[in-house]
Amino acid sequence: MAKERIGIMGGTFNPIHCGHIRMALTAREKAGLDRVLVVPTGNPPHKKHIAPAEDRWRMVCAACAQEECLTPSRIELDRQGVIYTVDTLTLLHQEHPKAELFYIIGADTLMELHNWRRYEEVLHMCTFLVCPRPWDVTPAALVEQRRTLEALGGRFITLEMEPMDVSSTDIRQALDNDQPTALLPVPVREYCAVRGLYGMDSRIPHAEGWLDRLFADLSVKRFAHTLAVAHTARHLAVLHHADAYRAEVAALLHDCAKCLPLKEMQRIARDNALTGDEDILASGALLHSVTGAHLASSVYGVEDPSVLQAILRHTTGSPGMTALDMIVYLADKIEPTRDSYPLLEKVRMLAQLSLTRAMIASMEGTAGHVKKGGKALHPQTLQTLEWLHTLDANS
Ligand code: ATP
Repeated sequence: MAKERIGIMGGTFNPIHCGHIRMALTAREKAGLDRVLVVPTGNPPHKKHIAPAEDRWRMVCAACAQEECLTPSRIELDRQGVIYTVDTLTLLHQEHPKAELFYIIGADTLMELHNWRRYEEVLHMCTFLVCPRPWDVTPAALVEQRRTLEALGGRFITLEMEPMDVSSTDIRQALDNDQPTALLPVPVREYCAVRGLYGMDSRIPHAEGWLDRLFADLSVKRFAHTLAVAHTARHLAVLHHADAYRAEVAALLHDCAKCLPLKEMQRIARDNALTGDEDILASGALLHSVTGAHLASSVYGVEDPSVLQAILRHTTGSPGMTALDMIVYLADKIEPTRDSYPLLEKVRMLAQLSLTRAMIASMEGTAGHVKKGGKALHPQTLQTLEWLHTLDANS
């Protein structure tokens, strides 16, 4: 059997950015890796202004959630004291004795390799996959460094890829100055804004506790989705002159009950007399909005009825939906990490122009999808669609 080929991308990830993700995906493709471990460092002694390790970890998880082949690893975070790459590679060789290890680095890191602790041993423990970086390391200096390290037994493969002009330092500066950060994955951008990292003021007073709880209660994919929905809801609210704070809060909590087992959702619904609707009680896909609104109030302490209503209405919709309800409903469907949903691109486009029309397109898409799957659409969705058509006709 062929040896498993495991890539390792270590870094401070302060924060993780699109350059890191591109490096890992390119390395996987070009070097035929089975998977890539993304390994955030604990508390690197040489770097200052570092976000707390658990925040960096969550951002790494959220950024990798979309890519099956990227596996965040806590191997360095969970060790006491300072840990060096030589220790990490030793542990990984013990854990995967039959695997071949590939360490993914940028060209700037190649120039620093001789400063790594016990680097001569490291050179024999893995093959380095080197990604170009558009910085002021001259090609001649790179070749020379590589030759020197090869003479000591090092193995290097330069990956062919377009260099990406991005660094965590640039991203931190952009966030601090409230500038656009196109090369930051949307869930990571939202995490920084909600948590108040890198000089940003947290937009939500209880965000720290909320993020702790959401990260613990949701799957990583759901957590990343939640952040992307919050980002999109805020954007839609600004665009349509609605309350951006409320939209962001409702979106952040809209799926807070989603990863509970159905039985637990049903227990919460029963104990608190939340609904008598048998169709809703029978389906986690519908019931999580009802239990979610309840938990947003009882656990997260949200008192604003308009926020709770938006959470409650984000699955079936409801006649009389407010702009805030529609924004949360739509943000859930069109957030940028979603790559498939009925009529996704049409709804995305319409959401920029008209909430009502986007709602109609989205609900009709869902209706068609549900029908195709041989299931019945909840009557409330049908009533909502009728109401939306009337609203649109009268506007
Ligand atoms: P900082 O700006 O804080 O120094 P960074 O962007 O270099 O951060 P790190 O977490 O320190 O990010 O980097 C982890 C690894 O990813 C390093 O080997 C680094 O060289 C590499 N790397 C980061 N960004 C890029 C990029 N845009 N192109 C190629 N390699 C990169």
